[in-house]
Amino acid sequence: MLLADASRIRNVGVAGHIDHGKTTLADHILAEAGIIAKELAGKVRYLDFWLEEQKRGITMKTTVMSFFIKDKNKKFLIHLCDTPGHVDFSGKVSRAFRLVDSAIFVVDAVEGIMAQTESYLRLALNEAVMPILFVNKIDRLITELKAEEYQIFSRISAIIRRFNAIIRRYSPKNVEWEINPNKNNVAFGSALHGWGFTFAQANAMKIKFGDIIEMYRNNDLSSLKKMFPLGKALTEFLVGVCPNPLESQRVRIKHIWSGSRIKALEKCTNNSETIFYVSKVSVEKGRIFVTARVFSGEVKIGEYIRLNEGIKKKVRALFVLKASKHERIDAVPAGNIFGAYLEARPGDTFASIYVDGFFRQPTYLAYPVLAVAVEPKNFSDFR
Ligand code: GDP
Repeated sequence: MLLADASRIRNVGVAGHIDHGKTTLADHILAEAGIIAKELAGKVRYLDFWLEEQKRGITMKTTVMSFFIKDKNKKFLIHLCDTPGHVDFSGKVSRAFRLVDSAIFVVDAVEGIMAQTESYLRLALNEAVMPILFVNKIDRLITELKAEEYQIFSRISAIIRRFNAIIRRYSPKNVEWEINPNKNNVAFGSALHGWGFTFAQANAMKIKFGDIIEMYRNNDLSSLKKMFPLGKALTEFLVGVCPNPLESQRVRIKHIWSGSRIKALEKCTNNSETIFYVSKVSVEKGRIFVTARVFSGEVKIGEYIRLNEGIKKKVRALFVLKASKHERIDAVPAGNIFGAYLEARPGDTFASIYVDGFFRQPTYLAYPVLAVAVEPKNFSDFR
């Protein structure tokens, strides 16, 4: 079972400034996994298509979808996490980043890095989440701005430079996460038109941006899509670039764990104390439902200690978070994101035995500087 093979798990977020195309891009990942038809990718906008959701009975409240993708006949389990729509004071976004090990940042090639891109990137780096870059809407440079090859290059270089400046400033020490086209951690394309490539893929096909411009001029989008299907570039990201939990937890735990050193957490081992983190709490069918990630051991139905307070709570049911209907399971091994019926609050840490420490509260981007007090008009109404 893939849930138990952490080397084949990828916990990945999709983030970006509003309207830069993260939902459209996520569609292509879902199409690659066979969840939606390939022809519909880019049109359905699955992650936030409410009517479609009601028709097909998918739950939108879940911001995580788990599915398989195949690469060279090997199967991988992807837990894809959508970041909440806007950056707020509540720490919701940081808690969403806590679930994942890497995040694909979608940046509009015309608009470049915007305020929200920068905020999300800082939050991801604070959580020791590896950023990956997709420069989207290259079609706009060609069709709207009539850019030549060198102008596309300079636009992309400027985006990478700015992205890297933020990475240099906020990334954890001892990691090399700067974006480098030779490392395949950046791709370019158009989610709307369904194409995208890394430099390695373009070099292998001996294609330059000049050829892409030509194809747009000749209105030959179908060849472009065939040559560089976006799903393929994204699969390369997911499988070849995004770290698995074993690689990631070695780096992350010291940044997000408050207690003394626990090797099982750093090694993401299954046969040790169980420790999991609750990111999100919602109500489903009248019961408290949590979205959580297990960092060590295996979660099973039964009692766990809420480390923040030292009280016990019972996990009543466990689920894989599927797009259509969550699937009940008996146990969740280390490295996975899962759903559970459990009385908890966002940010709680649970463990099978008492351990010294818990997951730190996420960093807030900003703290409110004003407080608003509401009073009744008549003081007598206070009673
Ligand atoms: P999100 O807010 O980041 O999730 O962005 P969406 O995926 O909802 O996309 C916002 C708008 O940009 C939609 O109208 C998309 O059709 C459009 N869009 C997405 N990707 C591209 C692209 O590559 N090129 C162009 N021209 N438009 C795109």
